[in-house]
Amino acid sequence: MKYDYLIVGAGLFGSVFACEALKRGKKCLVIDRRPHIGGNVYTEQIEGIQVHKYGAHIFHTSDKEVWDYVNRFCEFNNFINTPIANYKGEIYNLPFNMNTFCRMWGVSTPKQAKEIIDSQRAEFDIKEPKNLEEQALYLVGKDIYQKLIKEYTEKQWGRPCNELPVFIIKRLPLRFTYDNNYFNDRYQGIPIGGYTKIIQKMLEGADVLLNTDYFNFIKNNRDIAKVTVYTGEIDRFYNYEYGALEYRTVTFETEVLDTENYQGCAVVNYTSKDVPYTRIIEHKHFENADTKKTVISKEYSAEWKEGLEPYYPINNERNQRIYDMYFERAKKDKSVIFGGRLATYKYYDMDKVIRLALDTAKRELK
Ligand code: UDP
Repeated sequence: MKYDYLIVGAGLFGSVFACEALKRGKKCLVIDRRPHIGGNVYTEQIEGIQVHKYGAHIFHTSDKEVWDYVNRFCEFNNFINTPIANYKGEIYNLPFNMNTFCRMWGVSTPKQAKEIIDSQRAEFDIKEPKNLEEQALYLVGKDIYQKLIKEYTEKQWGRPCNELPVFIIKRLPLRFTYDNNYFNDRYQGIPIGGYTKIIQKMLEGADVLLNTDYFNFIKNNRDIAKVTVYTGEIDRFYNYEYGALEYRTVTFETEVLDTENYQGCAVVNYTSKDVPYTRIIEHKHFENADTKKTVISKEYSAEWKEGLEPYYPINNERNQRIYDMYFERAKKDKSVIFGGRLATYKYYDMDKVIRLALDTAKRELK
């Protein structure tokens, strides 16, 4: 066997695992079906601006070990994500905080905001929220639900809010302070020079094959490595034996504009269903780029189908049941390690993927 590890997917999980294995003297072959490394964190320079080709990637974590780890590969800037929501031309701060409540109801103190939320909550007799809709109404009441959550969520997920799991909305902080930081985490920033540079460093010393589909490759290379680290879709790996899992895909319309500052903010969410895209990203604000032009990406969400890129797992009951069967099956496959968003069918942030890869590597390489 030529390699210790065949790593399928040059995204974050695969690259961190490769890096850890290489450090310990293992031979790694990394393959990816895309024409570049980095998976969805891939960034590319356009007009002097690092463009997040697969959507906004803002690094945030409270895991000190993960923060120290990524900082070894690259310096991070001090970007803090303060997105805004545009609902039919009305502008609201996110996440839901005193600035949002002030704009929505004209209140100025936490006590006044809580009173309004409590009275709106009382209209619905929700004790234990069972789905995203109930959870949102329970947390912030009907005005915020209607203007800032319902239509945005249904655009993003393509399903009614009462069929979506509670945890999705729990990702967003809710605060009674005037604080527009989208995340509660201790550490936050964007790598100076882009994410691709980090991945390049992680993969130094590995052999890398791009434009290479695992399922074609493996037909002629059965014995190429002792262990496979697979980061693609788990249902595809098992040839959809227990049924197909559902994913959401995202497509981007990227434009270079001859203007210095298009929207004054890196991320603007369009929370009304009248607008077909979910958000517009203006990439230069991630790094305060001093350029005459700007690059924006409109993000559209759609159901995944063959030939498109799967992005978000849809962790509803049906899919979870199917995933559990794949998971049980995968446990028996001793020569394959599954990791990352697609192979574990989890809505992970970047820091969680790195944590998972480091822990997996530690166990595997001890
Ligand atoms: N969300 C919302 N309105 C917003 C932003 C987010 O209702 O303006 C909800 C929506 O259901 C979304 C979830 O919060 O799926 C999580 O948002 P997050 O920004 O974490 O999504 P991501 O950036 O991972 O796509």
